[in-house]
Amino acid sequence: MTAPTPPSSPRVRGDRGSFVVAIDGPAASGKSSTAQWVAQRLGFRHVDSGALYRAATAVALSRAGESFDEPVALAGADEITLRPVEHSFVPVWRGAEMEEMIRAPEVTRQVSRVAQMHGVRQWVNAHVRLAAEGQHVVVDGRDIGTVVFPHADLKVFLIADPWERARRRLTQRHGRAPSDAEIADETERLVQRDSKDATQTVQAKDAILIDTTYLTQAEQVERIVSLARVFEGGESAPDADPARG
Ligand code: C5P
Repeated sequence: MTAPTPPSSPRVRGDRGSFVVAIDGPAASGKSSTAQWVAQRLGFRHVDSGALYRAATAVALSRAGESFDEPVALAGADEITLRPVEHSFVPVWRGAEMEEMIRAPEVTRQVSRVAQMHGVRQWVNAHVRLAAEGQHVVVDGRDIGTVVFPHADLKVFLIADPWERARRRLTQRHGRAPSDAEIADETERLVQRDSKDATQTVQAKDAILIDTTYLTQAEQVERIVSLARVFEGGESAPDADPARG
């Protein structure tokens, strides 16, 4: 398959003075860790949009339990700020970094509901755009290449077989090889979340599709870093991989 040709006059250092790499894909497709690593390699900042949906969910849950509605979620979101930490941003609430709080299973169960709230989507998009303003960034999520940065300089859409996504997620969470029964349960949860997130998980027409099922993380990172360099330089993209979606 033919890889896309990068713009001959790159938007890399356009009037915004920024270069945006958008990485989208379904749950547990490795977007965030890959995006973080790619950002480090390129010397860019990483913005994880999913972390903001999770942060809004975590605050809503702590304010009102599971019965929260959109006004509660928005009032809670207003208390969240983003703190730049090394190559990334961390959501902060009441002076504390939320990294652990946003990964709680309860947050993962409720986050798709919060992500359907129009006001929350606007809040996340505004924060992500602000964090990226005038910077070279790698932004990951579901709708970055379609809605948040439709003119991103490079768009990548990551997919992987659900079983493999579940296996990776459990291995990362527990630090050991999961059993087939555990993988089957996690696969079911992921597929359910995929269907709840289906509306916003859209591959942009000009995104490069990378199926990571048989790739190591280092290989995924390498591909995206190479693409970013090609697009940044405005050279011709290599003809072979990755395939265009
Ligand atoms: O990427 P992560 O799994 O942390 O995202 C958590 C949730 O946030 C997703 O399941 C989805 O509901 C929502 N999300 C979204 N749009 C994005 C990023 C995340 O709707 N751009």
